[in-house]
Amino acid sequence: MQAAQKHNSHSKGFPTYLEYQCERLIPVAKILLGLSIAYLVGFVFIDFFQYREQIQTIMSLRFLAALPLMLLLTLLNKPDINHDRVPFYFLSLGLVSFAFYLAMNLSVPDKKDIVVLVPLLYILAVMAMAPLFNTFLLLLCFILGALVYYLAGYFFIDDKVLIDSVFSQMMAIILFTLIAVFKIKQSAEENYELAKSLHWRSHHDTLTQVFNRRGVFAWIDDHKLFKGQSFEALSLAMVDLDHFKQVNDKHGHAVGDDVIIESTQLIRDLLGENSTIARFGGEEFLVVLLEGSDAKNLSCAKKILQAFRHHPFKDKQNQPVKVTVSIGYVNHRQPNSFEDTLKMSDKFLYQAKHKGRDQLIDGKKQT
Ligand code: GH3
Ligand code: MG
Ligand code: MG
Repeated sequence: MQAAQKHNSHSKGFPTYLEYQCERLIPVAKILLGLSIAYLVGFVFIDFFQYREQIQTIMSLRFLAALPLMLLLTLLNKPDINHDRVPFYFLSLGLVSFAFYLAMNLSVPDKKDIVVLVPLLYILAVMAMAPLFNTFLLLLCFILGALVYYLAGYFFIDDKVLIDSVFSQMMAIILFTLIAVFKIKQSAEENYELAKSLHWRSHHDTLTQVFNRRGVFAWIDDHKLFKGQSFEALSLAMVDLDHFKQVNDKHGHAVGDDVIIESTQLIRDLLGENSTIARFGGEEFLVVLLEGSDAKNLSCAKKILQAFRHHPFKDKQNQPVKVTVSIGYVNHRQPNSFEDTLKMSDKFLYQAKHKGRDQLIDGKKQT
């Protein structure tokens, strides 16, 4: 997997674990946050009729609880959000909101049943967002959450019997949730690894470990190549092994496979870090050249042709295997599309074959 990335240092590739989870969980978080804010602010009207004496305290605490959630929602809506910071935003702002919400409910004598409901909401929110946290942060969520909870109880509730009964049971709930949350996190990690490996397999060729057709198309898309947004000199070289059927017939299929693997390596070693290679068909490779200039791209393609002429391919008995390539080479030019340039490289490859193989046809000289 690593090997295939060698020439793709500026490749976006598959998202990191956090990016992957953020992509899935941020939309959910936004809905939950929107609802929570609406609930915190909206219920002021109901409290207004029920707890008229304490309405000042309630209003300010409701607002103080809603504020961090609004901030979190704003942060999550930023287009250039730093995914590494997302778990910290959730933890710190969630905790502050939890503290104010708890304080509000406990400061109103009638609202004591809330000592169970509010922490449950906090626990459910941690559960929903568990895949975003690493083990350390998860433990911190629970330890700090429990601390806030007990401190709030200590400061706001005089009824020691209530504290003893409710708070010890809450401890059991926290422990159970902690185990469930670790399980959720573990399955989220497995899910990510599975998705990553499926993505890799669908974008790479298993024999040579380089991109397959779909992989190179995605890579081109990711880098916005052929879209007129880049002024980098861009060329395609379609490289096809000559008379490869005969290699198979003479030396066997296994040797044929080894030659394909060795050929891939031979080409890759000649490419700069921005260019890439894909196994485009059985014994056909598409090389996307980004070597810095048209001249350097062409020179790289010519080196590939030369390298095959001189490389000592061997069969299982150490007997030489003759392998040459034909190359269709073309510099990409606007307003041609990728498909146009690809078609041209294929056309020039066909011409190279037609003219006797073991040669490069440069599109510029033809058109
Ligand atoms: P040309 O010079 O015109 O390209 O002739 P060629 O024999 O290379 O081309 P042709 O398309 O007739 O045959 C390609 C051969 O490549 C046929 C197929 O058996 C072989 N081939 C394709 N994929 C593999 C593979 O993965 N392993 C092996 N060993 N052979 C393969
Ligand atoms: Mg061939
Ligand atoms: Mg072929």
